[in-house]
Amino acid sequence: MAVFPIRTFGDPVLRTVAAAIDEIDDGVRRLVDDMIETMYDAPGVGLAAPQIGISRRVFVFDWADGTGAHVMINPVMVETSGEWEFEEGCLSVPGRYWPIRRAGFARLSGLDLDGNEVEYAGDELLGRVLQHEFDHLQGTLLIERLERSVRKEALRELRDEALGL
Ligand code: ZN
Repeated sequence: MAVFPIRTFGDPVLRTVAAAIDEIDDGVRRLVDDMIETMYDAPGVGLAAPQIGISRRVFVFDWADGTGAHVMINPVMVETSGEWEFEEGCLSVPGRYWPIRRAGFARLSGLDLDGNEVEYAGDELLGRVLQHEFDHLQGTLLIERLERSVRKEALRELRDEALGL
């Protein structure tokens, strides 16, 4: 297992739609081990493969309910409902938090490491983690979820930062 550096805002891999995983082989199992270690090291409640530079459709999460780390491969968003605004951050945009409006409830299905179908559904923190990590596989950062005027300001600040201004 290894801890990988986390890609941050400005890295094109974070804006790329990730490719499906055709076969759950040793390479995928190793990737998931590394992602879990990187997530705990950060520390974060979730991590998607593009965040360590691997543009594949897999994310891991641990929303601190005592059940440990979970894996979703090739997840599909099955259902969302309601609305909930909550302060949210991202390991790829370190140190920044914004109130972000998302669905209150989300249900996703996908595969686990044995290739079995799994489904996760939840509201509040779990629902938010699932939506946030799914977004990463679509090449969408939380900044895209901000209202237009807030997003413009956030992007300007992040670009200035990247330039060292
Ligand atoms: Zn994130």
